[in-house]
Amino acid sequence: MIHLKNSAQIAAMKDAGRITGEALLIARDMVRPGVSTYEIDMAIRHYIEKCGATPTFLGYGGFPASACISINDEVIHGIPSKKRILREGDIVKIDTGATYKGYVGDSARTIPVGNVSEEARKLIEVTRDSFWAGVEALKVGNRLGDVGSAIDELVRKNGFSTVKRYVGHGVGTDMHESPDVPNFGTPGRGIRLCAGMTIAIEPMVNVGTFEVKEMSDGWTVKTMDGSLSAHYENTVALTSDGVLILTEVEKGF
Ligand code: MG
Ligand code: MG
Repeated sequence: MIHLKNSAQIAAMKDAGRITGEALLIARDMVRPGVSTYEIDMAIRHYIEKCGATPTFLGYGGFPASACISINDEVIHGIPSKKRILREGDIVKIDTGATYKGYVGDSARTIPVGNVSEEARKLIEVTRDSFWAGVEALKVGNRLGDVGSAIDELVRKNGFSTVKRYVGHGVGTDMHESPDVPNFGTPGRGIRLCAGMTIAIEPMVNVGTFEVKEMSDGWTVKTMDGSLSAHYENTVALTSDGVLILTEVEKGF
């Protein structure tokens, strides 16, 4: 069942979204060669708690940290560690969430570590652009397939591939609510979009094959062929006045 939100609920989600977005800004500003993913995770946790919110990821399904931090060919769900040190040329995906007054924000960014390859830079840009292509199609009366196909079309046009196994989702009092929001689809197909829907749109884009594999740690997901992967996610609300990007606190990031 899809839980539609009224304007008061969307306002509460905006607060959770802002805290989530601010935590990601703090994380971004820490990214440089020599920093461990553990340090970034702790900074995120402290910021969220300082705001009077709860790190949504911590303990979620047994996840041991407040952010998923995934490097290079790791797609999602990387576990922060003192042993994972960022190196020049890496790309790092930071995905986190905050629960505030019962509502959740969920957002992710891919950040270059120092100078990265031209291909890595293009991958990060195309992934971000594909999110916005999805938002363009997010209109009352459109279908979910319009959103997914807009994302996938832009990705394929740029020679990359969209992960199929993991998808976006509804967000509300739970991090994962109905419906699933795939980053691919058929225009005009899928459920009809209506005002009050709050969803996480989160393209995961690979340089090579769309196929992925899970690691033996039970969490980390990598590209099957070892190619680079990028991720871009915001929690958004569809209203009768248009789309609100709840987790965006700085334009262009
Ligand atoms: Mg997320
Ligand atoms: Mg998500």
